[in-house]
Amino acid sequence: MSKSSDAVHAILRQSEGFRSAQDIFTKMRADGAKIGLTTVYRALQSLSDDGRVDMLRTDEGESVYRACESDVHHHHLVCRRCGRTVEVAGPDVERWAEAIGAEYGFTEVTHTVEVFGTCPECAAAAGSR
Ligand SMILES: [Zn+2]
Ligand SMILES: [Zn+2]
Ligand SMILES: [Zn+2]
Repeated sequence: MSKSSDAVHAILRQSEGFRSAQDIFTKMRADGAKIGLTTVYRALQSLSDDGRVDMLRTDEGESVYRACESDVHHHHLVCRRCGRTVEVAGPDVERWAEAIGAEYGFTEVTHTVEVFGTCPECAAAAGSR
C-alpha cells in the first residue's frame, strides 16, 4: 500500500459521508499535501479494490467514496442533500439476491444496493424555511 493511498484513506476516515475524488483532492491540497488529482483517483481505485473503502454512484452519476466502519458486507442509506450515511444490513435483500441468482442458475452472485433519500435533519431544515 502506497503512502498516497494511506493519506487518502486518512481523509476519508475523517469524513462523515461519501466524498468525491475532487473533494478529497481539494481538502488534501488545502492541508498542504503535494498530490495530483490523478494520484487521488489511483489511490481511491486501489483502496476500493482492497475493500478498504466503499464506492458508490450518486443519483447524478458521480463516483463517491467512504471509509466504512464495517468491513463486512452492508448497504448504505445516503442523504442526497448533506451526504450523511447510515450503514445498514439488508437481510431481505441478501435473500432476494441469492434467490433471483439461483432462479436463473447464476453462481457467485454479488450485488450493490444503495438507498438514497433526505435525512430527518435536512427534511426539517427544508420544512422550516
Ligand atoms: Zn459502508
Ligand atoms: Zn441530510
Ligand atoms: Zn447485501
